[in-house]
Amino acid sequence: MFITTHAAIGALIAEQFPNHPFLAFVLGMASHFLSDIIPHGDSNLYKGFVSGSKVKRAIAYVVIDGVAALFFVLFLFNTKVFDHRLAISMGIAGGVLPDLIVALYEVFRVPGLRWFHRLHFFFHNMVSSRRGDMPFASGFAMQMVFLAALISRVG
Ligand SMILES: [Zn+2]
Repeated sequence: MFITTHAAIGALIAEQFPNHPFLAFVLGMASHFLSDIIPHGDSNLYKGFVSGSKVKRAIAYVVIDGVAALFFVLFLFNTKVFDHRLAISMGIAGGVLPDLIVALYEVFRVPGLRWFHRLHFFFHNMVSSRRGDMPFASGFAMQMVFLAALISRVG
């Protein structure tokens, strides 16, 4: 899913545990794996990256997504979140971290991160590898609706 979506879910979960930043981090991380199970339209993008046929496209997508997530967090912390910032930050960090670790493995092939990469895609592909992924546009639209609903609940 989009980094922004993972960040929003992490923030929402952290709000339930405002005085437990470590728990917020752990649950934020768990939410990443669980939410990735839902097919969300990025399988072809990843395949294009791995096969080498659409590497630039995949990188552009990740950069746009990452900067959008940064704007989203700035928006959140300047308009909605004024209390319990540590817990919210930790929830967001936990929600986003798995994709950072996956990216580190993709780029540097750090041997110690292989298990994590496999764990990530075990969840990510759990449904989409068997039933097929949804089209990119549908996944995008689904996450926008989801994100709007989440944002209205945060803060
Ligand atoms: Zn992920």
